[in-house]
Amino acid sequence: MARVHPEIYFFGAGVAEGRAAMRDVLGGKGANLAEMASLKLPVPPGFTISTGVCNYFYEHKHKYPKGLEAGVAKSIARIEKAMKHDFGDAANPLLVSVRSGARVSMPGMMDTVLNLGLTDKTVEGLAIASGNARFAWDSYRRFCQMYGDVVLKLKPENKTDRDPFEELIDRKKTARQVKDDVELSVDDLKELVAEFRDLIRRRVGRDLPQDPQEQLWEAIGAVFDSWNNDRAIAYRKFNNIPGAWGTAVTVQSMVFGNLGDDCATGVAFTRDPSTGARGIYGEFLSNAQGEDVVAGIRTPRQISLAAGRQSAAANDVSEADRKAQAPTLEEQFPKVYRELLQISHGLEKHFRDMQDMEFTIERGRLFMLQTRTGKRTAAAAVRVAVEMAGEKLIERRAALTRVEPVQLEQLLHPRLDPAAHKDVIARGLPASPGAVYGEVVFSADEAVDVHNTGQRVILVRHETSPEDIHGMQVAEGILTARGGMTSHAAVVARGMGKCCVAGCAALEIDYAEGAMKVADRIIRCGEFITLDGSTGEVIAGQVATVQPEMSDFFRTFMKWADQERTLGVRANADTPNDAKVAIQYGAEGIGLCRTEHMFFGPGRIDAVREMIMAEDHEQRARALEKIVPMQRGDFVEILRVMAGKPVTIRLLDPPLHEFLPKDDEEIRKLAGIMGADPERLTQVRNNLEEFNPMLGHRGSRLGISYPEIYRAQARAILEAVVELRAEGVNAIAEIMLPLIGERKEFDMLAAEIREVAKEVAKAKGKAPRYLIGTMIEVPRACIEAGQIAEVADFFSFGTNDLTQMTYGLSRDDSSKFLNDYLARGIYLKDPFQELDAEGVGDLMRIGIERGRKAKKGIKIGICGEHGGDPASVKLCHRLGLDYVSCSPFRLPVAKLAAAQAAIEGRKSKREFKDV
Ligand code: PEP
Ligand code: MG
Repeated sequence: MARVHPEIYFFGAGVAEGRAAMRDVLGGKGANLAEMASLKLPVPPGFTISTGVCNYFYEHKHKYPKGLEAGVAKSIARIEKAMKHDFGDAANPLLVSVRSGARVSMPGMMDTVLNLGLTDKTVEGLAIASGNARFAWDSYRRFCQMYGDVVLKLKPENKTDRDPFEELIDRKKTARQVKDDVELSVDDLKELVAEFRDLIRRRVGRDLPQDPQEQLWEAIGAVFDSWNNDRAIAYRKFNNIPGAWGTAVTVQSMVFGNLGDDCATGVAFTRDPSTGARGIYGEFLSNAQGEDVVAGIRTPRQISLAAGRQSAAANDVSEADRKAQAPTLEEQFPKVYRELLQISHGLEKHFRDMQDMEFTIERGRLFMLQTRTGKRTAAAAVRVAVEMAGEKLIERRAALTRVEPVQLEQLLHPRLDPAAHKDVIARGLPASPGAVYGEVVFSADEAVDVHNTGQRVILVRHETSPEDIHGMQVAEGILTARGGMTSHAAVVARGMGKCCVAGCAALEIDYAEGAMKVADRIIRCGEFITLDGSTGEVIAGQVATVQPEMSDFFRTFMKWADQERTLGVRANADTPNDAKVAIQYGAEGIGLCRTEHMFFGPGRIDAVREMIMAEDHEQRARALEKIVPMQRGDFVEILRVMAGKPVTIRLLDPPLHEFLPKDDEEIRKLAGIMGADPERLTQVRNNLEEFNPMLGHRGSRLGISYPEIYRAQARAILEAVVELRAEGVNAIAEIMLPLIGERKEFDMLAAEIREVAKEVAKAKGKAPRYLIGTMIEVPRACIEAGQIAEVADFFSFGTNDLTQMTYGLSRDDSSKFLNDYLARGIYLKDPFQELDAEGVGDLMRIGIERGRKAKKGIKIGICGEHGGDPASVKLCHRLGLDYVSCSPFRLPVAKLAAAQAAIEGRKSKREFKDV
């Protein structure tokens, strides 16, 4: 049969005018219904009005294109013929649903009207035809309510009001002294319908239309209207969905799962969405409507016998009881079960992905209402991808694109039990993943004390500093009120693989009181909170967590990712222990060892402070004498662990505000160690304090002012190399200078290092092998990269500082106002989290081009926090970097993102085989 209108696509009854690939035109729902119809699956017949009509509707003052009305009438006639019911027929009425559907799913954001076609006349016909008056009147009651809400916009009048229809239902139940809707009689339902219509007349000034055609057109208009309701607009904004896409409208004949015991409705997945295990998995309710499964009033039953037995065993229910009380679909509807199983296999094979299907059984006959790609946990995503590749359903490369890289973090850290209740009190930045709970403490010392009593603690601070490291080490998680995604707390917690929520501006912390306030709630020291570092949620009380486990599927999956990627992956690691973790997670080297981080912790920080606060050469030399042996020891261990793999060691870059002693007590302690006068030391500290520490006396500037510091560090590194080489360990050291913005800085500092190397060679009788490279983290370094590359052995982009300086946004202070920029759409993403491809990315491109032009093949990596962010890793691949470096715990994420980037690169050249 010919198409009735260019914007209308019919499906069902042996016809399919659309296809799955037409999501843009038909919306996800319409496209998949058409596809199922084309596979000759039992889909209730219907038609989809295209998204183009939605745009027309808005551009033409809510009018429709020419001929659409006639087309809809013809399509309804087609449904009538297929269903052998007539729309508006008093004896045997056809009912339809009118649903929205955008090209991407926008769950619950737009509107739907069900049971359309019911009137005072047709309800009687439905009661007779179905032999079930209660069903007919309950459907009419639901229709009045939905139509009143969606089409006639009869909503609560103000925020404190309840839904006016629900209020009437409650009143009726109270009057009848019943608890559940199902206990209301046919007469009660008839009265309710009359009351609903009264309400509509009073509030809207007209009656519920009694002409099904009028109902249909009003409902179609209302669904198009719902594309621009407040919820949908907010959702689109948040998810970057263009308003120009529009929604399609699907009009489909209703089928009923609530006509009696030979009816049912349910949801099924082609594989288990929580484990990924093969085999149909799902739930159903007999004699019920779809919404009852979701509403949770009755407990749904399992579809397959195997799953039914498993769930009974898990709940200590005997086989006899299970069979009597909760027979599975396989047992109650064996024929339908076999058909559903076959459809499930067919759909999975067809779409080559796990499907989430909705079905209804009407009088023993199966109808498929929907199929879509099934949402799944990270563990299931990995297993499904690996097994589908094994089954030759998809290629390995396609399998690698089936898992979101960030999902892998779920497999490496504990996460909140999805079934647990959460009382979210505030939200900060998701700075380091994982889910943890513990008692609140407000200082590092308290953290240690409480931890020593065997309790779990969450360290809550305005912000953290190296002073807090011992508390951070014992804490389960860290919560700060200030600081962004590259703040001290975020960077250090990530390095430790510890959960952290940073920059939670809603917190008012009072150290003296030992309490924090969030809105009206006060949480005191010792009370429990839970943090979700993957979402940034701060939750009151203890929420159960689920432990991660690394499966064989995960190992296989990561092996495939390694085979595919061309980008190298290194880890940011500051201690021998970090280095071991890095190796465990498959690092190919260390991309950044921040030497100032080696002094975190109470035993060591004083030595660095002594060095920073030294007033003369002699004092500094004394401090360095303490520092060098500690560093040499660490370098030896790190280089030994990483034997044969490159280790990039960055010379000191301590932002002064993180390292200076803060209060009088710290000053007194330091004065004691240094044999100095505390008052004098206070003066020194005050003199050193800076207005803009991030742009201050740090990085190579320190090396220029005090050459002895970098010389001492270089000596420690080079001696470690010689010592290990003598032992036969292949130590590869790459010495990196921070914050270089001018070639002369590099020249001077490199000359010092080379001089030290000569001295070490002379003293040890063996010349150390090493490279000297630079971070590229000052915008000027990108511009001058050609000059710098002439003398540097390698580049590593420090995109934390590069972002800070390109935007002129403080890493430490911007979290206060960044949310406004995100909320108002000025920035789409936090630039400290995801590399800004246009600005910072372009500076990187300039740096790479100029660097490689000056020195062909110069090795270039990235070691800013972006090195573990999937979108940023993909950008680094496209920019042609040699490697990315990130915290050890983010290595799997970076590897998968790198593999996907390689596949996407290939795909743009040559389409790989996939749906
Ligand atoms: C950077 O700036 O990107 C970097 C890695 O250095 P840091 O975070 O230590 O300033
Ligand atoms: Mg930096």
